[in-house]
Amino acid sequence: MNHDVIFKHKINSAHKFIFLTGGVMSGLGKGVIASSTAKLLQLSGFRVSCIKIDPYVNYDAGTMNPTAHGEVFVTDDGGECDMDVGNYERFLGLSLTRNHSLTTGRIYASVINAERAGAYLGQCVQIIPHVTDAIKEQLRSIATKEDLDFTVVECGGTVGDIESLPFLEALRQMELEGGKYNTLFIHVTLAPVLDVVGEQKTKPTQHSVQELRRIGIQPDILAVRCNNPLTPEARRKISLFASVEEACVISCHDAPSIYMVPEVLAKQGMIKVIAKKMRIKNYSPQWGEWKRTASSFASAKGRLRIAVVGKYVTLPDSYVSVYHALSHAAAHLGRKIDIEWIESEKFENGQMYQANMEQKVETRNGLKNGEQFKELSYLRTFDGILVPGGFGKRGSEGIIHVANYARIQNIPYFGICFGFQLAIVGFGRYACGLERANSTELDPDTVDPVVDFMPDQKTAHNAGASMRLGSHRITILPDTVAESVYGSNWIYRRHRHRYEFNKKYSRLLEVNGMIFSGHSDSGQRMEILEIPAHKFYCAVQYHSEFNSRPGNPEQCFAAFLRACSGSTTIAN
Ligand code: GLN
Repeated sequence: MNHDVIFKHKINSAHKFIFLTGGVMSGLGKGVIASSTAKLLQLSGFRVSCIKIDPYVNYDAGTMNPTAHGEVFVTDDGGECDMDVGNYERFLGLSLTRNHSLTTGRIYASVINAERAGAYLGQCVQIIPHVTDAIKEQLRSIATKEDLDFTVVECGGTVGDIESLPFLEALRQMELEGGKYNTLFIHVTLAPVLDVVGEQKTKPTQHSVQELRRIGIQPDILAVRCNNPLTPEARRKISLFASVEEACVISCHDAPSIYMVPEVLAKQGMIKVIAKKMRIKNYSPQWGEWKRTASSFASAKGRLRIAVVGKYVTLPDSYVSVYHALSHAAAHLGRKIDIEWIESEKFENGQMYQANMEQKVETRNGLKNGEQFKELSYLRTFDGILVPGGFGKRGSEGIIHVANYARIQNIPYFGICFGFQLAIVGFGRYACGLERANSTELDPDTVDPVVDFMPDQKTAHNAGASMRLGSHRITILPDTVAESVYGSNWIYRRHRHRYEFNKKYSRLLEVNGMIFSGHSDSGQRMEILEIPAHKFYCAVQYHSEFNSRPGNPEQCFAAFLRACSGSTTIAN
């Protein structure tokens, strides 16, 4: 094997690259700006896709804590990706592959494997050129394989971070090799307002552009985040100090909905600027349904109050796709949504509550960490309850109580993955008399393992990429709630789990009123449960949230919110 065999994707001027770098600080919404830029190009008739670079050393996002890094977004092919990939899918309406999420870990793994295979025999393997070549190869190979006109590449982190240097160096080289007209740099910065006078400060932008220049990159466009539109004065100043034409300083002020950001960019001539810089014909986006869909988020009326009870609520990004899926479904209904993110541990104390006797729920102060114990009856103030995915024991008893409370109180309930498994545990305990029913994830010695390790998981030795991942076909039984929700007898949905419903208990649960209405792998695994007698009690083993799109909400989310709004029609 030689170097040319591995790194075979050379420069092709048919594939243009737009690189987004971040300045000043993280959390500026670079993902939304990348997605919106790509959307504008897509609406203009180009083949476009996005790639996220994450400079951490993990091979993928699968082993990271959601409360530190945000949700793990799962692609159809089972990639455990950075959550920005979810933004790309939602904006572009595409299903991307794992290759669209690139980490330092992946790059180094490819270089080290190539070195072991003898691709660099006789050479000293170095960051420049070997690691940077591997980065360029990954980016170019996607553009070639997917035959993209434009590849928008978002580099995570902030300019100045040590760990992103090899990536920025590779992007710099791509400009050198591909030429000015085939590469474009957008630098995302911030213009904060500190005083009451409301002056937008430009110094952070000036400094971060200097930092970028120091490593050899001169931005073509500055996307400046600000609360209110950038003032002409601030724009002029930034243009002068950063050496970027005024027309190329784009104000990225707050929009009523993230899906309106493409319009914010278009209004300021973003397309014209890209067309001029990249020497392509000026074009105009064909908005189609997009503007109407985007504004439906802002014009919605009447609120739905939803409690999301989960384990990772300290960082809203942990459930970012759940949030978007709820907002898509609500906008589609013409409703606004109020979500209260509730820590499941707050419902944890089992003694507080006995099934079917919820009237007797007592309150007690001074739970762990001085937190107030939340009465389950508080949940009655919501239109519906959603329990998203989760792992491990902490907070699980709280979820079991919540799932059971929703059932006996006839409050619409939608469970996803962990929310599916723990609804089964609650039903086993409180409706089927299996007092000690549990998932073996939470109690390995339970006498009634209603949720158990999947057989093939018993041989999985690595923690990384070893769950049941990605898209699987699900068969939906006729004459069920699920069938009317999906209007079909099969769907494909994405998964990420190690445990599953233990089919040995099917009969017992079914005679007590819980129906398993969807299954996969020739009936081997149960995927959807429902309680037909309930207003809406539906839970799924798969992750519905990853398939939701603005204007086209995932059907189970839509049905859940319809039930929450009091509608008795389940069908879409
Ligand atoms: N912890 C459960 C499992 O591994 C559920 C996973 C999830 O909610 N994504 O099966």
